[in-house]
Amino acid sequence: MDTIGKRARIIILLGPPGAGKGTQAKAIMQRYGIPQISTGDMLREAVKNRTPLGLAAEPIMKSGGYVSDDIINGLVEDRTLQADCVHGFVLDGYPRTVEQAKSLNQLLEKQRRPMPTVVNLQVEPEGMIRRISGRRTCRQCGRIYNIYFSPSQRDPLCDTCGGELFSRPDDDESIVRERLRQYEKQTQPLIQFYRELGQLEGLDGDAAPETVTQRVLEIFEGRKEQHAGS
Ligand code: ADP
Repeated sequence: MDTIGKRARIIILLGPPGAGKGTQAKAIMQRYGIPQISTGDMLREAVKNRTPLGLAAEPIMKSGGYVSDDIINGLVEDRTLQADCVHGFVLDGYPRTVEQAKSLNQLLEKQRRPMPTVVNLQVEPEGMIRRISGRRTCRQCGRIYNIYFSPSQRDPLCDTCGGELFSRPDDDESIVRERLRQYEKQTQPLIQFYRELGQLEGLDGDAAPETVTQRVLEIFEGRKEQHAGS
């Protein structure tokens, strides 16, 4: 990779299931013209297409567990080599374990890219189950709604494209509880990992989605200036 890599934008969104990572990733993608890399979306696509990866991942996802680090790291590495990633990317749902974060740092170094800006979306635990069980996604354009907080005006159709809205099978309450447990156990330690590296920025994920986007962009621009001047 050439020196373009050094100027690339690498943003990681951290936060529990339902914190708004997907919504924010899409907004950042539009603002900067860099792709969203969502391991959850990639896995759901593989399940839909019945690929070997999809067949292996399906039961794990249905139980609320995590797919193995090796598989996920390989998937992300391949994705970052595609041409649209040359100016960077926004990661949503990856890394999810400390092992994945270490592998990502090695990958960024190998690709001569800057270290990531890591934004932790902090949300009140009480609202979490409603955030997730109320989530609806457009089958056609991927826009995300919430029937309690930000419903589509044309429910069950998408305001943007008229596509059909659906609930993810793993957003069922019993599975959500297991996902939250996995998050506490496996993903929470990441926060400490990035804090020790001085890369972590926290922000209030309970604010309105547009406010959160604005703050994510401010954090990113602020850090970029810091790097340029240092
Ligand atoms: P959410 O962030 O709302 O929990 P995602 O769409 O990111 O959901 O992920 C859905 C499921 O896909 C996870 O519960 C897990 O089984 C699997 N998955 C996604 N990303 C990863 C990852 N980085 N490592 C391991 N498993 C993953």
